Amino acid sequence: MLDDVDLLVCGAGPVGCVIAERAATVLGWKVLVVDRRAHIAGNCHDSPASNGVLVHNYGPHYFRTNDEDLLRYLSRFTEFTPANYEVRSHVRGELFPFPINLTTLEQFFGRPLDAEAAEQLLAARRVPITNPANSEEFVLSRVGRELYEAFYLNYTLKQWGVHPRDLDPQVCGRVPVRLDRDARYVGHRFQMMPKGGFTALFARMLRHRKIRTLLNCDFTEVRDLIRPRCATVYCGPVDEYFGNRLGKLPYRSLRFEFVAHQTEWRQPCVQINYPNDFDYTRSVEIKHVTGQRHPETVVSYETSASTGEPFYPVPHRESAALYARYRELAEAETARNSVYFCGRLAQYRYFNTDEVIQEALACFQTIRRRFAGAPASSSTT
Ligand code: UDP
Repeated sequence: MLDDVDLLVCGAGPVGCVIAERAATVLGWKVLVVDRRAHIAGNCHDSPASNGVLVHNYGPHYFRTNDEDLLRYLSRFTEFTPANYEVRSHVRGELFPFPINLTTLEQFFGRPLDAEAAEQLLAARRVPITNPANSEEFVLSRVGRELYEAFYLNYTLKQWGVHPRDLDPQVCGRVPVRLDRDARYVGHRFQMMPKGGFTALFARMLRHRKIRTLLNCDFTEVRDLIRPRCATVYCGPVDEYFGNRLGKLPYRSLRFEFVAHQTEWRQPCVQINYPNDFDYTRSVEIKHVTGQRHPETVVSYETSASTGEPFYPVPHRESAALYARYRELAEAETARNSVYFCGRLAQYRYFNTDEVIQEALACFQTIRRRFAGAPASSSTT
């Protein structure tokens, strides 16, 4: 098989699995997927802890989307179960609904409010900044200094190891502020988890007679051995692909501590954020949203780190400038050697799970157009 490959895919995460599945199913290509880890599904990987409770090994992945076609595509490989993504923030020894909503404001300022009164309260506190240039300015201009310091400043410092004033506005800007009582973390139309978990979903995608998967296999071990007939899809860190020749891009890493409890539930909701206490940023009891029934539970405590496996690209000006130079190299490599760079690490961009799958489907379309002629109407048919 190794010398008989149409498409080589580096990375068995969501992008690699989707492109492998599409290439095998739609184009009939022989696909080899390699991953340096011992498992598939990338950072979406989930597995049972020793007490049998399903956990998200690399932090919570709350699947949500507004894209019905995407959901229909994924539904070929899994059923979904509705999920309630509710987060609270631990501030001044109390739990507050987060993102900030009307209930948070009432609790924080100690008086009943309606939407109009809340808007007045925020208007009196907002720092007038017309075009926020960074995350600090963005949050100050939205909710003022007290709420910024209580809910955002220290969480962001812990999470990124960088001050919010050195991060793009959209880092904190992606969290909404609501003047109603909606306590959901996000507002997407579909909020649901794959029944049986993400690993099972992606395993179904790879279960195809034209796809072979090689785990515990680093891309460097095969890149000079295998010459795919058509293309390569690379989902690893873009700087690593080029031997860090322009310098290393910064990544934020994470550490997880999983603690089992012999009670059915430990937390009132799936996630609690700790902006101002402890070294860890958040505790996650994923059982709240996986749909699993189990008499015991597991809570994971998540701590950010500057070293270790790369998780998050760090969105600030210098890293964007360095990535732009790597991107030029990547584009030349695509044109010259049909190597396609797709995903969070390869495109140095934070994607939610639905977004990264959309990227994968778009990347597959580009490949399909290049190798199969006529443009396709839909990547999921
Ligand atoms: N954030 C914060 N306080 C919180 C939660 C988030 O300041 O309680 C900031 C932080 O900088 C974080 C960003 O908002 O990186 C985006 O948060 P989100 O929960 O969307 O990040 P994710 O968990 O998806 O990485």
